[in-house]
Amino acid sequence: DVADIGVTGMAVMGSNLARNFARNGFKVAIHNRSVGKTEKVMNEHGSDGEFYPSESMADFVASLQKPRVAIIMVKAGKPTDAVIDELASLMDEGDIIVDAGNALFTDTRRREAALREKGLHFVGAGVSGGEEGALNGPSIMPGGTKESYQRLGPMFEKISAHVDGEPCCTHVGADGAGHFVKMVHNGIEYADMQVISEAYDMMSKALGMSAPEIGEVFAEWNKGDLESFLIEITAEVLAHTDADSGLPYVDVILDRAAQKGTGAWTVQTALDLGVPVTGIAEATFARFVSGSVPQREAARAVLPAEADAPEIADREQFIDDLQKALYAAKLVSYSQGFDEIAKGADEYGWDINLGDMARIWRGGCIIRARFLNRITEAYERTPDLALLLADEYFTTEIAKCIPAWRRVVAYAATAGYPVPVFASTLSYYDAVRAERLPAALVQAQRDFFGAHTYQRVDAEGTYHVEWSEDRRQTRQDSDQQ
Ligand code: NDP
Repeated sequence: DVADIGVTGMAVMGSNLARNFARNGFKVAIHNRSVGKTEKVMNEHGSDGEFYPSESMADFVASLQKPRVAIIMVKAGKPTDAVIDELASLMDEGDIIVDAGNALFTDTRRREAALREKGLHFVGAGVSGGEEGALNGPSIMPGGTKESYQRLGPMFEKISAHVDGEPCCTHVGADGAGHFVKMVHNGIEYADMQVISEAYDMMSKALGMSAPEIGEVFAEWNKGDLESFLIEITAEVLAHTDADSGLPYVDVILDRAAQKGTGAWTVQTALDLGVPVTGIAEATFARFVSGSVPQREAARAVLPAEADAPEIADREQFIDDLQKALYAAKLVSYSQGFDEIAKGADEYGWDINLGDMARIWRGGCIIRARFLNRITEAYERTPDLALLLADEYFTTEIAKCIPAWRRVVAYAATAGYPVPVFASTLSYYDAVRAERLPAALVQAQRDFFGAHTYQRVDAEGTYHVEWSEDRRQTRQDSDQQ
């Protein structure tokens, strides 16, 4: 009973996380279902710090200081449930079980409720940054009780990434809040990756630029407002050459994007909550379109383009437009993602500080970026900001991008290039700021075929028209008289 913390699951993520704790001076108990992986960690990295390896789960639990903290880093789903059950049967009241894998937040809520009954703390912690982050400093989003965070916080904050001396870790909120926020983080990541690839596609198709040339543009963009991990790695990827063919590496990769499901979770959850995350949704669907091989083949054979790519007179201007369109589309995607977090917090009773979420994403995670500071500042200015985009910084920034953004979307439509996130975020932008929307007509249609009622612009109450009779308007609500 000496270890400060334990990690079970010694595949790549768990072993790297355990090594990170050890390198930061913590005594780390380690365990894996099959003992080989634990031995490998000891043989290859035992010198990283103080490890306490165990072959059995019982010995693993016994090696932990009380109140015990055991982190689970195994395959998501049933394996996680199995490990939770095993751990729970061995632990005592007040002990803490952390699931640091990619669990769906509703699973985390279920597990938390079950373990609470047994007097155990269950913490779903979102961990972002991949293998490298787990080892050198991830962004960590722990949910669970405040009490559990008092024990976990100092350790997690120490091993997390740091930006400007601040840890990229904070207590997100109760039960599944951490995994919820991690889910939305991944959704935003999908949108970010897609807008970057749309800009790349336009440079490639409209300007005929080579991958390395486009890479140089991204490297340049990475010095400005767009500075971020994803732009940086994009520049690196585009500069890379395939050793066998001598071709740009990106050109030898099959154009079918895969996914592990967190983008889809974000969209499904947004649908349940009624939040229009159009950028994230289109980015997720864009991956499905790319992977719909029979449909693409059928379409390629017969669907006419009827497109006319206009001559681009000023290439510099076109590239500058793309940069601005990318920034604007990105701002909208983030704003929508933060809306989803706010709505989720309302729905599930989580006290989430939105500015803090942007703060802990500044380092360690995949969407790490300079501009996240701006989001934190916006929520500091106005904690109950109804719409991130409506913050004064963002309105000023987006104003500088609008003409360019419109030109890019219009060009793409004319030339026949798909830009689902550029276009859908622009439509959202124009919808959310519109004085009046065609939703009035939709309401009338609903009332016509389904007597679903509507409200009026000029009077209180709920109304219905007797469409199939004399078209008389009747008041439907309780005040009716
Ligand atoms: P895997 O998801 O590949 O899982 C392998 C580990 O799970 C092994 O330790 C394996 O043990 C264990 N395991 C599988 N089934 C069981 C079971 N029934 N009982 C006990 N243990 C079991 O490992 P990763 O390291 O890639 O990922 C771990 C978690 O982290 C996952 O939830 C994943 O989604 C998440 N992840 C997160 C990333 C991030 O950036 N945050 C990146 C990658 C993953 P054994 O060796 O005995 O087979």
